[in-house]
Amino acid sequence: MGPFVVHGEQTMWYFDSPHVIFGEEALSHLAQLNGRHACVITDRNIVRLGLAQLVIDQVTAAGLACTVFDEVEPEPSLQMVQRCAAVLAQHQPDWIIGLGGGSCMDAAKSAWLLYENPGIEPESVNPFDQYTLREKAKLIAIPTTSGTGSEATWYAVLTDTVEQRKVGIGTRGMLPDYAIIDPVMVMSLPPSITADTGLDALTQSIESYQSSWRNDFSDAMCLHAVRLIFQYLPRAYADGSNCEAREHMHNAAAIGGIGFGNSQATLAHCMGHALGVLFHVPHGRAVALFLPYTIEFTANGGDSRYVDIARALGLRADDEPIGAASLVTAVRDLERQLLQPLTVRDLGIDQTSFEHTLPELVGRAETDTQIATSQRIPDSAELRRLFDYAYDGRTVNF
Ligand code: NAD
Repeated sequence: MGPFVVHGEQTMWYFDSPHVIFGEEALSHLAQLNGRHACVITDRNIVRLGLAQLVIDQVTAAGLACTVFDEVEPEPSLQMVQRCAAVLAQHQPDWIIGLGGGSCMDAAKSAWLLYENPGIEPESVNPFDQYTLREKAKLIAIPTTSGTGSEATWYAVLTDTVEQRKVGIGTRGMLPDYAIIDPVMVMSLPPSITADTGLDALTQSIESYQSSWRNDFSDAMCLHAVRLIFQYLPRAYADGSNCEAREHMHNAAAIGGIGFGNSQATLAHCMGHALGVLFHVPHGRAVALFLPYTIEFTANGGDSRYVDIARALGLRADDEPIGAASLVTAVRDLERQLLQPLTVRDLGIDQTSFEHTLPELVGRAETDTQIATSQRIPDSAELRRLFDYAYDGRTVNF
């Protein structure tokens, strides 16, 4: 969970995970729930695909009343979360179920916090203050993308649509009580979302492995998630009906999420968040685009640990620089295979609007919370160069 509590000179570390129910039929765990009323927080796509109905059937089989809030939009807004919290206050559920991709799970976590702490300003929520949670309800997260790992983390990313910026809110208690990792939920994922979200899982697993908050517990999760993703993401992308690939990718995203939630991501996330919000690029696509550039930048700074990842993948890894270079090549090969953009230009962003936005991209990236856990922290001039190099695909040599 990170180095949160300090007693005198001593920093205490925590490792947290939700109870994880995984594999085929994991969803049927819901039929054993004890309680009165469950509120499912999801989006209209998930309802249209029949995935919400699978959940409702199990919850009602357990004898609970069930309400559905289906207004979550991709990159969930502060404003929608306030509306969702009002619906929770009206129905007073004792179970909240976040069902969907990272957007729905983040919306559920945030609305849950507001429901338990009426009147609180979401933006004021931080890891160091105490909040009420679990007095009214418990939280279940059911991912329908294999990507964000939000089912296993204690924070949420919201968008302030008025001020056009992402707002991270988090406190340790916001970790879901249960994460249900059932591959049936991802069989309908189209290839492009499979690729975007799968690369999000890869980016956070690689970044969390070398974040400055890394630890022995998160290392194990991150390294294995990277192995699974390289092995199964191309298969899940090429053939979405491949149950084995879907199941392993779904597990990999949750395993990576546990690693990430206990360590934190780094520089590619800072740059990806900035680009994503200013140019409306899906989260996973945005962070993965910057990954090879930030690996090069971090490795150029010295001891980087990418060599361990290269070794785990069976790549050439004689020493740190060779390991990092092998990993960059492997990430780019995977991105090509998944028809992903390798440069900012590939996203269709023209040079004039990119250069016009560059100061703001730099400003947002350098104030992103995950800059603090980056192993090599760029100054403003270096960040500007990194964005520039990623625009047209230059090798980062500084
Ligand atoms: P998403 O939740 O925004 O979903 C993207 C699209 O995929 C939506 O239109 C959705 O309806 C659709 N979709 C979801 N599941 C589907 C399925 N099974 N079949 C067909 N379509 C499906 O995408 P995401 O990448 O999962 O989540 C991104 C959000 O998560 C961002 O807001 C990002 O900031 C956040 N995030 C949170 C964390 C965390 O730890 N809290 C970590 C990383 C990212």
